[in-house]
Amino acid sequence: MNKPESVNDVWPHKETVIFLMDSKSCFGESISDLIQVLESCEHIGDQGIHKGNELSATFHHFNREKVGEFGEVVPNSLIFVDFSIVFDTDFEVYLRGNSIPRSTEIVILIQSSDYSNPRQQVKNLTRSIETATCTDDVLKETERYFKRICPECQGDLAKNWVLGWEKKVYQRVHN
Ligand SMILES: [Zn+2]
Repeated sequence: MNKPESVNDVWPHKETVIFLMDSKSCFGESISDLIQVLESCEHIGDQGIHKGNELSATFHHFNREKVGEFGEVVPNSLIFVDFSIVFDTDFEVYLRGNSIPRSTEIVILIQSSDYSNPRQQVKNLTRSIETATCTDDVLKETERYFKRICPECQGDLAKNWVLGWEKKVYQRVHN
């Protein structure tokens, strides 16, 4: 990664979205099926008003082992992470510290009803975090996120947002 200086350095933008979870299913649906649905999001597609859009995305599924690879986790601006991984691994340390830029969208997947007061635990992380309790939440978060960084829908605002985010990631990975 070269040091990003201008929007031309970061566009066209290929977003990577990661799912950090040990199970191969998410709210009862296989992750590969879910990812197929997410890939059809109009903002990362190449049809209609999005024809020629400079935004595209790839999706990855990793288990908790990946959390230890700081340089692999930080350069993703949309991270879905299973509740149990957040609180059992260094992920919580990343969130409480400055390791992951505050502008990175974190969505915690609450897949079990066994946790005691999970929303309060998420709130205690003292940064902006979304939660999902069904696949519909995952779809909505993905849609909302891509719309925010879509240059066809948001123009320079989206382009500058990605530039700002990449600058922050660069600082963290290279310092
Ligand atoms: Zn769009």
